[in-house]
Amino acid sequence: MSNKKGSLSINSENIFPIIKKWLYSDHDIFLRELVSNACDAITKLRKLDMIGEFEEPEDNHYQVEVKVSPEHKTIKVIDNGLGMTSDEVEEYINQIAFSGAEDFLAKYKDKTNEDQIIGHFGLGFYSAFMVAEKVTIDTLSYKEDAVPVHWECDGGTEFAMEDGERTERGTEITLYLGEDSVEFANEFRVREVLNKYCSFMPEEIYFVNEDEKNKPEEEKPEIVNEDGTPADENAEENEAKEPEEPKPINDTVPLWAKHPNECSEEDYKEFYRKVFMDYKEPLFWIHLNMDYPFNLKGILYFPKINYEYESIEGTIKLYNNQVFIADNIKEVIPEFLLLLKGVIDCPDLPLNVSRSALQNDGFVKKISDYITKKVADKLSGMCKTDKENYEKYWDDISPFIKFGCLKDEKFNKKMKDYILFKNLDKKYVTLPEYLEAAKDKNENKVFYVTDEVVQSQYINMFKEQEMDAVYLTQNIDSAYITHLEQANQDVKFLRIDADVAETLTEESDEEEMKSMGEKLGEIFKKALSKENLTVKAERLKNENVSAMITLSEESRRMQEMMKMYNMGGEMDPAMFGMEGGETLVLNVNNRLVKYVMEQPEGEHTDMICKHLYDLAELSNKPLDAESMTNFIARSNEILGLLI
Ligand code: ADP
Ligand code: MG
Repeated sequence: MSNKKGSLSINSENIFPIIKKWLYSDHDIFLRELVSNACDAITKLRKLDMIGEFEEPEDNHYQVEVKVSPEHKTIKVIDNGLGMTSDEVEEYINQIAFSGAEDFLAKYKDKTNEDQIIGHFGLGFYSAFMVAEKVTIDTLSYKEDAVPVHWECDGGTEFAMEDGERTERGTEITLYLGEDSVEFANEFRVREVLNKYCSFMPEEIYFVNEDEKNKPEEEKPEIVNEDGTPADENAEENEAKEPEEPKPINDTVPLWAKHPNECSEEDYKEFYRKVFMDYKEPLFWIHLNMDYPFNLKGILYFPKINYEYESIEGTIKLYNNQVFIADNIKEVIPEFLLLLKGVIDCPDLPLNVSRSALQNDGFVKKISDYITKKVADKLSGMCKTDKENYEKYWDDISPFIKFGCLKDEKFNKKMKDYILFKNLDKKYVTLPEYLEAAKDKNENKVFYVTDEVVQSQYINMFKEQEMDAVYLTQNIDSAYITHLEQANQDVKFLRIDADVAETLTEESDEEEMKSMGEKLGEIFKKALSKENLTVKAERLKNENVSAMITLSEESRRMQEMMKMYNMGGEMDPAMFGMEGGETLVLNVNNRLVKYVMEQPEGEHTDMICKHLYDLAELSNKPLDAESMTNFIARSNEILGLLI
């Protein structure tokens, strides 16, 4: 072959600006591209071997080597794959540069059919120019009588091609790093990038610092004892030691690529520790494994969540044929799944296109829907066949599931019958089960507890009357019950202190109650100097309860919402007509209340009114400072009356 020079550019649609500005925002991906090309070259040669077009030599060991030289500011990617002839370099390397963005996209289209080969990233090879001033290729094809080729290009519009000197089959790509990219000649930086992108690539990858390797013997650090003296006694031993067998930096058969039957519990846990650096054990996991209607494999872990202290935040790593693409690509992974930790490998993904294009891709949406479906199937299946574990994990996984139901209607549809509620007996029930049990006493009403301590008075009254309530203590619950109410128009959720449940009261004459309420209202308003107080009389079955506060569900939810949007902050809720909703319920079956009613001007009436009100407040929420001071003083006064 004669020397050849050529121009890479024919018009302003040259690909270099695309590479630099548009295609990739992270410069470190050049290494992913070159190493995945190297793996491809080996995979292709393996295939040629399989179909009888190549015979692997006896002593062959397929491998990719990545070599850095901080001194020379170079980084090399070397493979012993199929190599290229000069015609192939012309076709695969030179010609692609002639094509503008449009051709590049057209080229990509044809590639989707190409079976299983990495490199759907389009301009992979040219991404080298993001970091290199000059790139050389030295390659020798596996083909008989192939002539080695040397190619070089300085990132401008010219390249040069001539016969090369390579004697071994395969390809060596050398990058002469630009001034602002010398970080990629640093051993630790490169190791980091390799770990990020190449940890699971399908061919063995070895990493070498060339400068270290070539150092003359004397320059190597002397082995010393802890106190700094030369370690003479051990010197011999050290010398005798065989040099350690180099280890590949990657795992060529990642766990997700194996069949679930081949993976042990310990395998899953170890993989989790390694990939997510999380030493807390995951609760359980889902292994996705399908090849129809598209290829998708992956493992999703449900981490143990300490939701009181941590915000829930997961990581889903996306791979394309074992090549890492990115974390948390929300176009592919349903948003609520991003709370989990996991890996998804989908070889069919069109990942060379920009993210905005992914958003509108019907195929991508299908993948996302499929993942959602699989997760819902696994969870509902677990509820059906392994209820014990499902209940055990429920408190941890329920925020995730509820969030999924809020975010994704399809998920909601599949999961809605498998949402559990912990009841007052600390048993898990479903909504239909709860409603069925409450049918006679409180049809379609779901009472719930948000704080076991603060609401204990109400809980006790419920228990006495053999009524049930459920615990809803997580942040997401208020949004979730609103969602449930919208879906089940008849069902109403009421916090346990929202209303006096009918079953707690005796049957009584409405008119009589009304007039008693009015009478008591006047006495209490006067005693407490609270003109706006709302008072209601009830005949509670439990005569020991004197008074309690109820807080209307609607106005409380409204207030909570305002607090959430921080409108409540410094502003007075009364400004929005929001105040109130609070009712003082007085039990006319109670001795003290009876006394007040019968002796409006009695000696102790005033004090009893104040104290009953404070007690009712206290069993609903903590008192403010002034009320607390008064309460303590009054309590002492009352005790004083005993002696
Ligand atoms: P893609 O990998 O998507 O095909 P690239 O720009 O990464 O695009 O590579 C272009 C082509 O150059 C590859 O398809 C392959 O034919 C050839 N090539 C690149 N690197 C190598 C290599 N290390 N060994 C053999 N061929 C290679
Ligand atoms: Mg490629």
